[in-house]
Formats: sequence, structure tokens, C-alpha cells
Amino acid sequence: MTEEQETNKEMEYNQQEQQEEGAGEDDNLEEDDGGDNDILVLRLACSSTLPVLEQDPELVQEQPDVPRSVSAASGGGGGGGGGRGRPSQNSSVRRNSRNGRREGRRSETIDALYPWATKYRATVHSLEYLLSKGICTITGVVQCKRCERQFEIGYDLGEKFKEIATYVARNKSSMHDRAPSVWCTPVLPKCKFCDQENSAKPVIAQRKKHINWLFLLLGQLLGCCTLSQLKYFCKHTKNHCTGAKDRVLYLTYLGLCKQLDPSGPFDRES
Ligand SMILES: [Zn+2]
Repeated sequence: MTEEQETNKEMEYNQQEQQEEGAGEDDNLEEDDGGDNDILVLRLACSSTLPVLEQDPELVQEQPDVPRSVSAASGGGGGGGGGRGRPSQNSSVRRNSRNGRREGRRSETIDALYPWATKYRATVHSLEYLLSKGICTITGVVQCKRCERQFEIGYDLGEKFKEIATYVARNKSSMHDRAPSVWCTPVLPKCKFCDQENSAKPVIAQRKKHINWLFLLLGQLLGCCTLSQLKYFCKHTKNHCTGAKDRVLYLTYLGLCKQLDPSGPFDRES
């Protein structure tokens, strides 16, 4: 990929990200890794500053498989997806008012949700700082995939970080800027209620600025994040990153390690 292509991709991503961060407070936007472009198109269509009534109705009704004339006529038998009521007008009003509200809302700093997080997005305190403040255990919430109960897990900061740092130091040269499979497909903790192995998934905050990054790092659970969440981390920590999930995941691991130990061997290879 040329540098220019990468830049374009990044700009496209930034645009999406900015719209995304403002949203999601009251709607649970759960993106999966694939459909980013569709979501982008839809959001762009809805983010016009024109009053709703002047908007081209085609833009509001993004549902190409149901031509309007047909959907009106096929009320009885049609089936096949066209049946669901689509409150297009209402939802576009809602979206537009949200867009208005979020104008200029993005600030440099955020409220840190955890004692180990800083006021900057996707940034945690250093190991030295945390230990000096007596913060030795990093907690987070997980949910069992089998019994669905939630509970808290605590990781020993010094011990877990040492384990990861040692692994990185030993293996970095053979990783080629890609996360190894143990990071891509993490072994999940055992459920403390039903004893199911490999079953307790981290509960990851819907809003990206509230993600418990240090907990995910120490549990080596960052692979549970979506590509979009990982890109958010890289973007806000000034890591130029594009590409497949294993690459972005690798950079997230290294980036967090670097935040904890700025003098450690956590720079990118290339
Ligand atoms: Zn369970």
C-alpha cells in the first residue's frame, strides 16, 4: 500500500471515529469489524446539517432492497425484510439533533474512570507511578459465556506486566509486527461460578474512552477488542496504524507496555 493510500484510509477512519465518539452515549453502537464502510456511508448520509425536511428522502431511507413504491404496495404478502416498520423520519430527527449537540464537544481530556487511567484517551499511568501510589492490583469485570454471570477479576500489576514484558523481549524479533496467536485468540479466565474453563469474557465498555485498557493488557485479553476499538487506541496514542487486526493488536500491546515502562524494549520494529 502506498503512503498516500494509507493516509486516505486513515482520514476516512478519523472521520468515522469523530462521529462515533459523539454518538453511542444513548445508543448501543456495537460495531463489528467488517461493516465499517456501510456504517460510515449511513452516518454521512445522516449527518447533513440541512433541516430534515429538506433532506433527500432517498438518503434517509437507505434500504436499497425495498423500492418505495413496492414497499407501499406489498404490505400484505411480501415478507423478506421489507416488513419491519422503519421510523425513518423520526430516527433521522434524533440523529440530527445528536449531531447538533456534539458539535465542538470533543475535549482534550476526559474523566479518568479508573485510578490507573489518565485523563487522556487510551492512556494509563506508568508502572512506577502506579506502584508509588500503592496501586498494585488492576481490576475489571468479566462475564461467563455459559452461565452469563458477571464478576470482578484482579491482576497483580507487577507480576503480570513482568510476564508480558519478558514475553515481548524474547519474541519481538520474530513477531514481524504481528500479534501472535495467543494474543489474537486469548484463553479466557475460568468462571468462578460454574467453573467453566476459557469462558469469562471481559466486559468491554461501549464507549471507547471508557475501555479498561490496562486490565485487558494484564489479562492478555486485548484480542477480545474489535478492530475499531484497537484502532481507537492506536489513533489516540499517536501510533500510525492501518491494516489487519493482528497488526493493530500488536501495536496496542506494545503501546500499552510502553506507557507502563517508557524505557522498555517496546518500540516498533519498523
Ligand atoms: Zn459461568
